[in-house]
Amino acid sequence: MTLFDKFTPVRTAHQAIVDNGVDPFRLIVQHVFSPTEAMINNRRTILAGTNNYLGLTFDPQCIAAAREALERHGTGTTGSRMANGSFEGHVALEKELAAFYGCSTAIVFSTGYQANLGILSTLAGPEDVILLDADSHASIYDGCRLGGAEIIRFRHNDVNDLEKRLVRLGARATRTLIVLEGIYSMLGDRAPLAAIVAIKEKYGACLVVDEAHSLGVLGSHGRGLAEEAKLEDSVDFIVGTFSKSLGSTGGFCVSRRPELDYIRYMSRPYIFSASLCPSVVASTRMALKILEGNHQLRERLWENSHVLYEGLQKVGFSLGPEVSPVVAATVPSKEYAIAFWNGLIEQGVYVNLMLPPATPNGLSLLRCSVSAAHTTDQLTYICETFASLKEKLSELQA
Ligand code: PMP
Repeated sequence: MTLFDKFTPVRTAHQAIVDNGVDPFRLIVQHVFSPTEAMINNRRTILAGTNNYLGLTFDPQCIAAAREALERHGTGTTGSRMANGSFEGHVALEKELAAFYGCSTAIVFSTGYQANLGILSTLAGPEDVILLDADSHASIYDGCRLGGAEIIRFRHNDVNDLEKRLVRLGARATRTLIVLEGIYSMLGDRAPLAAIVAIKEKYGACLVVDEAHSLGVLGSHGRGLAEEAKLEDSVDFIVGTFSKSLGSTGGFCVSRRPELDYIRYMSRPYIFSASLCPSVVASTRMALKILEGNHQLRERLWENSHVLYEGLQKVGFSLGPEVSPVVAATVPSKEYAIAFWNGLIEQGVYVNLMLPPATPNGLSLLRCSVSAAHTTDQLTYICETFASLKEKLSELQA
């Protein structure tokens, strides 16, 4: 046995995917024309797997803000805020996020992944317990592991299972962090927040909600599931990312609890990683302003989500349990998913190929994400392409 034996199964699995067409994990986007179109494999392709929910990546105001910050402050910060100091933009963005959520404190991280690592590992240490939904994103799992807390999974969106596990913890329930997502990234379903809040209050636990896929999507101001459910006062910490509705990169946490500000001094992903580039901060701030002020974008996103969900449902795809901007078609096998994904690329449609072990319950998924910037023609083309490939690949399914 050597250190390198572990790579053999990866090489075999990877080769099997490549032998069947394009390598989905090394796709090269040659040129991006707009939030919904790019050149891929020398073909003009509709982007339907980029989490660009509000389509703000090409917004002229965001681009102008980024350009100005680039000229004024340079390309990067070249260090962490603890070591190199904060730029004005970091502090302003934190103030604006706190104001947007009506919270006392916000902390900005360099990615959404790091926000989960930083917050979860600092909130729950070796003496504590984390109860996390089984379908949680990898960054949630990794953040939980980093802190050394005892990790207990409960069945996805199963409130009874959560309560059973809290009861078993007895007095330790008050040292327990419950972690959820607003909209789950794989199947696009929401957490049953009201029922979970009732349980967390009954047992005195603490609640973190990752609103990565629900910021800009849910709630009348776009603040996410907690806003939609009118439960913002009952969620202890909200985590999110700038890499979806806000069209840039970075992550954040907001809270009404004063302890959040101390996390800054305790969180390794915050202390030991370079802070966000000034241009990224500037475009994010502008995108947040647009998200707040432009309700039509959210309305358009939901109209488009209905069109895609209902369109794919009509041609017989098995989808997540509710309409959302994450529209994931469950397909019968890995091989079928790979063949289908290659067919979509050949026809100029890009979606996410999601395979186990990255998916819940070993599902093979063709995961689409809808944007407010998609046109009706683009959505119709996506549905027609799914339908024609389904027909073409029917013998693989048999
Ligand atoms: N949380 C969830 C639920 C996510 O889906 C993702 C990314 N897909 C992240 C966190 C990480 O965000 P980022 O890509 O900005 O690091």
